[in-house]
Amino acid sequence: MRHGAWQCPQVRRILPRNRTCYTWSTVEVDMVLSIKSRRDAVGLTRGELLLAGDWRPSLDGRTWVHLHPATGEEVGEFAVADVADVDTAVRAARTAFDEGPWPRSRAKERIRVLRRTADLIREHTDELLALQALDNSVPLSFGDAYAMSAECAADIFDHHAGWVDKLGGETLSPYQGGDHMVFTLREPIGVVAAVIPWNAPLLLAAQKLAPALATGCTVVLKPSEYATFAVLRLVRILEEAGVPPGVLNVVTGPGETAGEALVTHPLVDKVTFTGSRAVGRRILHAAADRITRVSLELGGKSPSIVFADADIYAAAALTMGTVTVGLSGQVCVAHTRALVQREVYDDFLSIAAGATALVNYGDPFDAETTASPLINVRQLDRVLGYVGKGQAEGARLVCGGERVGGELAAGNFVTPALFADVTSDMTIAREEIFGPVLGVTPFTDEQEAVRLANDTEYGLAATVWTSDVKRAMRLTRAVRAGTVGVNGYQVEPHAAFGGFGQSGLGREGGRGSAEAFTEMKTVLLPTTDELM
Ligand code: NAD
Repeated sequence: MRHGAWQCPQVRRILPRNRTCYTWSTVEVDMVLSIKSRRDAVGLTRGELLLAGDWRPSLDGRTWVHLHPATGEEVGEFAVADVADVDTAVRAARTAFDEGPWPRSRAKERIRVLRRTADLIREHTDELLALQALDNSVPLSFGDAYAMSAECAADIFDHHAGWVDKLGGETLSPYQGGDHMVFTLREPIGVVAAVIPWNAPLLLAAQKLAPALATGCTVVLKPSEYATFAVLRLVRILEEAGVPPGVLNVVTGPGETAGEALVTHPLVDKVTFTGSRAVGRRILHAAADRITRVSLELGGKSPSIVFADADIYAAAALTMGTVTVGLSGQVCVAHTRALVQREVYDDFLSIAAGATALVNYGDPFDAETTASPLINVRQLDRVLGYVGKGQAEGARLVCGGERVGGELAAGNFVTPALFADVTSDMTIAREEIFGPVLGVTPFTDEQEAVRLANDTEYGLAATVWTSDVKRAMRLTRAVRAGTVGVNGYQVEPHAAFGGFGQSGLGREGGRGSAEAFTEMKTVLLPTTDELM
């Protein structure tokens, strides 16, 4: 290796300021990590349900205590909605849709509310990011990264405000029969159940709420039980921006109870879900009975395809960086399969191993912390289980894959794991791990690279690393994934995002996203007294 990965300009962009070298080693931490002072400074109050415009506890008074993933300490508690609470929420959304002003409101009014929401999010950036760090321990330093930022959530509201007055139908010539006009209308789809995961709560809540509200739908939102507080604050911002009572309702609590009751409720017209493939399948099955509309944003096993003519330092460090820095690989678009041309295979491995030094675990409020713990103990065990399985099936563990002890022992920290000689039949190459684990597989030529890239049930994202623009174009066409980057990857909130195959159904962002919250109606209007 000619120089450290952190000296590469592209890699330096993902580093927080004022640091040149990072370590997950516990030796830098001189006391047991505690989140209590941060929690107290933010001043959390107990989280409640929002039902028909009223914030209230659940009917049976049950609460969920959120434990911080970095320390295991109590952060705060929030209401656990039971079936009756969910029913109240859905009925409130139904009434607001069938009888309330929002679905019938003027475009100008909805644009005003969405733009005001975007402005308020920007005004409350620090508070929202602090709450996000208390939820899932995403470091504040990573909150500057666009996809995790409050700016991105605000941009999503601004983007959808732009669609409000642009979605419409068309006027057609009659195909047959008497004199009449044929035209189409786009109408709001109705009551939307929106269920989101814990890893990017602000971004993902915005991806659901902005198009639903832009098109005049009413909503019941269920955040993840592992990231509730930032979403509750965002909902208060929407209220302040002018969303009328009953239009947006919130139920909190575990998926098996609150989530299941919501997605199976007979008065829901559409379920929009982001989360795991397993829960997505369950929702799709449940929707079959009533032909409920469903859109799904699920997991991935995305490839980073690295050719010998690429900037190998950027390719290796950024691929390892995206699987470790920030959310420690707990990202749907994490590029967890590195497919690397044989000529640069060894270089790639040594740079990727060096790039684990980008990871510095600790207090998410500390500017030097660059990566989060795993969200809970179940996920910690799962990731360690995959590391064991990778070794058992013959992959070579180059580094990492161990639980971090010492002062960080109470948190769910695992050292970034790099596997070499991974073959595509191995479990770690096929299943979404959702942790800091990168598997590297060599390939010989372009044909083999495409075959390996497409040898997956998923199809969310991919990045091609090459300096040959013609090859880049060939690969972007050949790889079956919802978003393909060339020499880099980033979130673009105005472009369609979603997956091929088992990565989901439908797209978020762009015109299609807003249209997915509408039904198309055809109107036949006679222009004479003759019957059609
Ligand atoms: P999860 O599927 O366990 O939970 C997601 C949400 O569904 C949570 O709110 C949960 O409470 C709820 N839920 C759980 N069981 C339910 C049920 N039976 N009925 C209704 N709701 C239920 O996922 P997670 O662990 O929170 O998130 C990680 C997953 O999300 C990964 O697979 C990741 O790839 C995926 N993800 C996808 C995208 C995307 O845009 N494609 C973005 C972020 C995360």
